[in-house]
Amino acid sequence: MKWCRTLAFLLVLGLISAYADWGRLPAQSAAAQTAFGYSSFSAQAQIEAKFLAVPSAKVAGQDLKTLTAEPHLAATPEDKRTAEFVAEKFRAAGLATEIVPYRVLMNRPVEVKVEAFDPAGKLLMSGPTREHVEGDPGQDDPRVVMPFNGSSASGDVTGEVVYANYGRLEDFNELAARHIDLHGKIVICRYGNNFRGVKVYIAEQRGAAGVLIYSDPQDDGYYKGDPWPMGPWRPATGVQRGSVQYLFKYPGDPETPGVASTLDLPDSARVSPDGNQPHIVSIPISYHDAAPILEALGGPSVPQGWQGALPFRYHVGPGGVTVHLVSKQDYQRRIIWDVIGTVKGTEYPDDWVVAGNHRDAWVYGAVDPSSGTAAMLEAVRGVGVLLHEGWRPKRTMVFCSWDAEEEGLIGSTEWAEQNAAALEKAVLYSNVDVAVSGPDFSASAVPSLKQFVREVTQSVPSPVTGSVFDQWRMHEATGTEHHESDAPVTDAEAVRVGDLGSGSDYTPFLQHLGVPSTDIGSDGPYGVYHSTFDDYAWYTQNADPHFLYLQEMARVFGLEALRMADADVLPYDYLTYAREIAEYISAAQTKAHNDGLDGLDFSAAEAAARRFLEAAEKVHALQAAASGDLAQLNTTLRQTEADLLSPAGLPNRPWYRHTIYAPGEYTGYAAVVIPGVNEAIDARNPTVAAQQLGVLAQALDRATQTLDSAR
Ligand SMILES: [Zn+2]
Repeated sequence: MKWCRTLAFLLVLGLISAYADWGRLPAQSAAAQTAFGYSSFSAQAQIEAKFLAVPSAKVAGQDLKTLTAEPHLAATPEDKRTAEFVAEKFRAAGLATEIVPYRVLMNRPVEVKVEAFDPAGKLLMSGPTREHVEGDPGQDDPRVVMPFNGSSASGDVTGEVVYANYGRLEDFNELAARHIDLHGKIVICRYGNNFRGVKVYIAEQRGAAGVLIYSDPQDDGYYKGDPWPMGPWRPATGVQRGSVQYLFKYPGDPETPGVASTLDLPDSARVSPDGNQPHIVSIPISYHDAAPILEALGGPSVPQGWQGALPFRYHVGPGGVTVHLVSKQDYQRRIIWDVIGTVKGTEYPDDWVVAGNHRDAWVYGAVDPSSGTAAMLEAVRGVGVLLHEGWRPKRTMVFCSWDAEEEGLIGSTEWAEQNAAALEKAVLYSNVDVAVSGPDFSASAVPSLKQFVREVTQSVPSPVTGSVFDQWRMHEATGTEHHESDAPVTDAEAVRVGDLGSGSDYTPFLQHLGVPSTDIGSDGPYGVYHSTFDDYAWYTQNADPHFLYLQEMARVFGLEALRMADADVLPYDYLTYAREIAEYISAAQTKAHNDGLDGLDFSAAEAAARRFLEAAEKVHALQAAASGDLAQLNTTLRQTEADLLSPAGLPNRPWYRHTIYAPGEYTGYAAVVIPGVNEAIDARNPTVAAQQLGVLAQALDRATQTLDSAR
């Protein structure tokens, strides 16, 4: 999840009130005159204008309220009710709708306990403390699940404590360099900078007996600003729940990698869940509960950069404090429910445009994910209005409401695995998860769709002024997080679209099946992620009081799907793809050199990337001038992304087959580019690196051959 740019947020807050009643679309603002992929855009521009007029801030706000009325953890009766609500809305819009169940292995907490003692045996703390602030409306509901980690092992362990900062590989390596042995220890580390499962993964590799993961106020608490309910940041007792599944091995049901967990799947088809599950206890805690442990911790003072914002000097340990952890987890195969709504295409019914969002939440999930669901429902209603007027898309549109994303992308992964054959022809997977935590639009995509996302946002009005793209460009230019220099941003290219790593439901589509994917969101200060406080009251006070950004996201999300569904020529930009791959190869070469792997031969991969670029140039010209029977060209364009899959998958994680993008084994959320090559270089393994350079060159050659066959 992305954190925010406070300055831009304040600026926009001041402007919003003037637009509080803004909901109707100025007629002229929908009208892009051209769009890549359309030989003539005027008819489509009219359809888009009709669509853009439908999503309503008011209706989206009502849907958000309904979706967040109860805690709706995956596989609970409340979750089932949200599935039925979404299905009803899909049907009302005219989508052929089904609720698709899967039976998947997931844990629920029975008992979670943390106690800390000083060397004399005196109790320093006993928790977890219940999440509580003055005046939050939902916190006392008995259905609020106690904070726990999805995929945590059960266990009862006692040990000395070692502080590992963010639990990054470099943090653990720093401890090793200081000869701090982690065998039998309890590692305490703070949230941030990587996926929480990675923290547990490395701790397990280093022999730790258990892990406490806490939210430091420096990262999303009072150091950033006022905590909830004064402001948007994390209060003392707020806990970030979350999955510690080793999703960089494979996501989804741990017992069925590559296979769908349908209700009739026999037990004999399931495998040991060991492949993506931790074997040690991990428990998420608040800084209220972490503070007494960290304050008592002895040993040397922390290295530079490890000090958090609690009001005392941090120490690395061990010494001064012993912790007792109890984690009793009930592992069962539980039923989850995806909701799938389809509109059949007229010209290319087998070419699916898939657009999805998860529905399950750790608790109320107003931002994560209900803002995404509310936006999707308004996008679907917009499509429904077009259908009602007789419009039909050229390609089949499939809207998906995923379940059990929080436990490890389970609903999306199982559905993608079940529909793998059909998805070989899917032309887009468009994801939205956290649709709105504030006003700052952001996007990630495969390079072939980066310009497509920019174009779509140029056609959607911002609640502030101008288009979503204009606002996006402005905060990119004025924000500090993405720009090292003060140079003004002048051209469209300069608006940054990120790379897809993992942490949301695009992963099975892109990285397992090779479906070109995008992920969008609108960000702001958001300190209640995965806590009970991510509720409707927090949302309306902090993120989007008038639901104007829900409306905006409904429009962007829906327009992406519409524009792709009706395109004459698939608007993939392989020029950008080829250029980025060439840069990845060159950066890997520099890294190999710096790491002393000078013998590695990059020339074949470089030559393959050059040929890919030449083929991309030719195809780009064809796309721009296309007419007549375009089916062959479109098939070719789609096949090119699939050519980038390696049949054997990545070393040690065959489920991940994309040769250009994967979640990093040691980052989890962040993408590792040309992962086979880069991770082998990181591991100082020239043999595997050379072999993976060969795999990459072959993939690029396949893609080049496909592009060259375009007519
Ligand atoms: Zn989410």
